[in-house]
Amino acid sequence: MKRIAIIGAGISGLCAAKIFLKAGFNVTVFEKAESIGGFWAKEKLHTFINHQATKDEYSFSDFKMPLGYPEHPSGEQVYEYLLNYCREFDLLKTIQLNHEVIEMDWNGRIWSLNIDRQDTLITESFHYVIICSGALNETKIPFYPNLQNFLANGGQVVHSSEVESIEQLKNKRVLVSGFAKSGTDVVSYPSGYLYSETSVYQNEESKLSRFLANNPHAKYRLYSRLSETLFNFHSETRIQKIAHAIYKSLIWLQLRGLELFFKWQYGLRRIDIIPERKTDEVSINGLGVETGNFYEKNGLYKIKSIQSSIKEYTNEGVLLTDGSKLKADLIIHDTSIIQDVLFLSPMYRSKLRDKNGRLRLYRNIISPEIPNIAFVGFNSNSFSPVNSEVAAYWVLRLVNEQIKLPSKEEMLESICSSLLWRMKESPLALEYSNTYISSTNHRNLEELLMDMGLRSKRTSSVIVG
Ligand SMILES: Cc1cc2nc3c(=O)[nH]c(=O)nc-3n(C[C@H](O)[C@H](O)[C@H](O)COP(=O)(O)OP(=O)(O)OC[C@H]3O[C@@H](n4cnc5c(N)ncnc54)[C@H](O)[C@@H]3O)c2cc1C
Repeated sequence: MKRIAIIGAGISGLCAAKIFLKAGFNVTVFEKAESIGGFWAKEKLHTFINHQATKDEYSFSDFKMPLGYPEHPSGEQVYEYLLNYCREFDLLKTIQLNHEVIEMDWNGRIWSLNIDRQDTLITESFHYVIICSGALNETKIPFYPNLQNFLANGGQVVHSSEVESIEQLKNKRVLVSGFAKSGTDVVSYPSGYLYSETSVYQNEESKLSRFLANNPHAKYRLYSRLSETLFNFHSETRIQKIAHAIYKSLIWLQLRGLELFFKWQYGLRRIDIIPERKTDEVSINGLGVETGNFYEKNGLYKIKSIQSSIKEYTNEGVLLTDGSKLKADLIIHDTSIIQDVLFLSPMYRSKLRDKNGRLRLYRNIISPEIPNIAFVGFNSNSFSPVNSEVAAYWVLRLVNEQIKLPSKEEMLESICSSLLWRMKESPLALEYSNTYISSTNHRNLEELLMDMGLRSKRTSSVIVG
């Protein structure tokens, strides 16, 4: 029986484990954390992150979230749901918690994994390895001079992903640098404690609201085939290309209309936070949804937002590039989180990325140059459960030799053309190393289903598709 190693017990690792276990493989899941769940693990319980997705979008196909859950479940509820998924499909027996994979070696036939099991090194061999280590797992805090002075004076500097409890903010002057979702969620968090917040950002990205004048919900506007037709796709048929060209001006008008509506809804002119980047410019890399009350709090002067960037730290806070100084006790950098696979050897890691640092994966799942490895959870992190499930089924068919891959050259060519397309559609793609594909989610899934010889079934709704 083939031995399959799965690295990571988040959403992707859990569904890959279920699918391979059910297909009769000998599965072992290695998880470096103390509990299952990945981003939603018990020990993380992100107090501040408001869920972008709804419970239906964030459910596995064969295991729905409980009816009693709210439309946007809390982190705690997602963890409970994932634990119940493990119980339902008897996955806990396959999961080795507190096991960190630190190195992998391919001997031409099998992969040897070196695993740190709470300070004891063990080695195990596998025929195939499925990497589910998370789409966004390596945080980067940018360097600014004089950090030591700021720290020596009692200042604190953290990445937004490290802000987990209200205690960290209590009675502090908090400065958030960056305009991604987590940072705006942190400064928007309604707390009974006293803390004053400032957000400093360089570019106000277009965000989308969950509700458009209270209705319709974002899920109907964003996560549907209809909304995806607004964006180009790298492998459009000739008819689709012609239709796109004909409707270009209508599409342009619709996107500008949505942006105007967003500005009106939140009074962005009044609070002087006008998005510089257009929806279509950012959508290909990942479009954030406004989930807190960031704009309302700005309107009520509870958050002070400044468009500038940090030049250096001072003893008491930061000096901005426009020459102004801000005082802060805690600086939260809401900056990039990238996908990296540090346990792969430098030789293989170099094959994984192009010279601009972007991942080179065929169908966002396999590298044509690395044998017997697949990546699940790297195709999109907009609605992870369905994306990871479909990717895991695709890998199962590949391992069972039920998918015929194109030649290595053809796969490299396909990767290259999809990266070029991403660059052409959005030059901002260079700022993102990840495989975000939020505006083409359904079409990517359809591509995978077609590879598997399956047809996607549309819902009866003309609008949602
Ligand atoms: C800041 C932030 C905010 C987000 N907000 C939302 C949101 O609001 N809504 C939403 O739908 N999605 C959100 N996401 C995306 C969310 O991460 C995905 O939806 C989902 O958690 C991805 O699941 P995964 O299993 O692929 O990865 P993860 O959940 O990241 O799980 C990966 C697992 O791999 C383990 N691992 C990594 N390396 C090793 C190793 N070497 N050895 C052993 N184990 C290892 C990790 O410990 C982790 O448990 C957010 C992500 C981030 C980073």
